[in-house]
Amino acid sequence: MVVVVKLRMPTTKRRELNLTDFPPGTITEYTTLVCLACIFDIFTKQLGLAPRTAFLEIKRHAPTIEELTSPHTMRPYFDSEEKHPHCPYCGSTKRGLARFDTYRIEGGKTTDAARRALVKKLPKADDQFLVLEKKSDSRAVFFDWLDTLGRSLDLNDEAWLVDATRMFLERREPKTDWEEAFDGLRAVRYSTRLAEGWERDGGRLFLAPHLYSEALLVQYLVSRSHVHGGLTLEGRLTLLDLIRRLRYGGYLDQIGITEREPGEVFEKLIDHLASTHEWSPYRTARGSERVAAAKKAARGSERVGLKKSSKPSSKSRKGKAEPPPPEEMTTEPVKLHYLVDRRDFLDKVKTVYAHYAR
Ligand SMILES: [Zn+2]
Repeated sequence: MVVVVKLRMPTTKRRELNLTDFPPGTITEYTTLVCLACIFDIFTKQLGLAPRTAFLEIKRHAPTIEELTSPHTMRPYFDSEEKHPHCPYCGSTKRGLARFDTYRIEGGKTTDAARRALVKKLPKADDQFLVLEKKSDSRAVFFDWLDTLGRSLDLNDEAWLVDATRMFLERREPKTDWEEAFDGLRAVRYSTRLAEGWERDGGRLFLAPHLYSEALLVQYLVSRSHVHGGLTLEGRLTLLDLIRRLRYGGYLDQIGITEREPGEVFEKLIDHLASTHEWSPYRTARGSERVAAAKKAARGSERVGLKKSSKPSSKSRKGKAEPPPPEEMTTEPVKLHYLVDRRDFLDKVKTVYAHYAR
């Protein structure tokens, strides 16, 4: 499986689907190659079918989700990063190979309408597209997302910290135009003044304490297996350092984590981040109130880090938007929808059959 578009990167695909109605980070794209020469071989030589029968059978072929997305492929499937790939089993090149493009869409409120609209528009003839479903849960989806995020970043270049923050915010608050919020950004900072949301001040983006805490967590999770360990905007942190910061910064209290044992705290943090619940208590945080506050803000009133005061100032709340109640943190079921583009496969099957039938 070669993951092509992970986080909305432009591609030069010939027949790409229009996925602009989906929030960033909700779609993962996989490409896998299949060797038609190998398939014809299996059908005609091993199973003894006549070429025409083999052709009709092969045309109906519907790969499984596993075959399309697993990092370990089996004949006749294979992955290749080469510009001119060839089959590792029989050596076939271009003409004998076909490609399946698979789009995995995370089910949920933010994607369901767009997904139904997209599926409706897909061509129906010959099963050019397959629509498959798989049950998963918020935790598995979150770790997949982290894994994808990690692979799309260059962890040797510290700019990844800002990129990871943006991608996390895109996932958390898909309705915000984060591209604009991050345009020309130089630094992400902890805000001592904002109780909620974020604000831009020149080249800096200030995040309310809980958002900043979550960004740190994501940075830690992305980089903990990297050679440098858990690198964050606050420097390199061990899990204990991180938990201590989140505790003293008030974040653990805010989301209702009362456990003391680091392992338990960590598990709860993961469940919280992975949760697909609406973040609505924070959604109301932006807008005129924040803008007004931003205008009043004196330059330099912000401070970097989670070191000292951490209580959001009650003034900036103006009695609105109560903090969220401590929630039940459990793994939630998530439905994954797979759209499999068989168009290239159908085209190539015909060509290969024509060649065989000669
Ligand atoms: Zn082959």
